[in-house]
Amino acid sequence: MDKVEKVEKSEEEWRAELTPEQYEVLRGKGTERAFTGELLQNKESGTYTCGGCGAHLFSSDTKFDSGSGWPSFWEPANDENVETHDDNSHGMRRIEVTCAKCGGHLGHVFPDGPQPTGERYCINSLALGFEPDEPSRT
Ligand code: FE
Repeated sequence: MDKVEKVEKSEEEWRAELTPEQYEVLRGKGTERAFTGELLQNKESGTYTCGGCGAHLFSSDTKFDSGSGWPSFWEPANDENVETHDDNSHGMRRIEVTCAKCGGHLGHVFPDGPQPTGERYCINSLALGFEPDEPSRT
């Protein structure tokens, strides 16, 4: 039994819900142009969510500047919400990263990230949303 509750929508429903740019990445497995993502330079504390279904995917605590031009993380916030798949498209051997809940394409993961994991989740900003942490009141 799968613990993650799946979100299933028709392509028509996704088209109606997402912007054409989001659709191209999340449902069409496209890649945004490097250094164009709104969340690339985001330094706020919070949670990066799936742009398709809102699943919590990455924490700002694991975001780092990889220099690649895409938001980069060294670990998912929640292993259950992030899936990986072999991707041999475009003449490359890569590992695709998808949202476990809605199946949306997020990006790829590479073995050249920083410690402690050594992984680099290279994620399209267009595939993400962001929920800032509540400001702490002291
Ligand atoms: Fe999702």
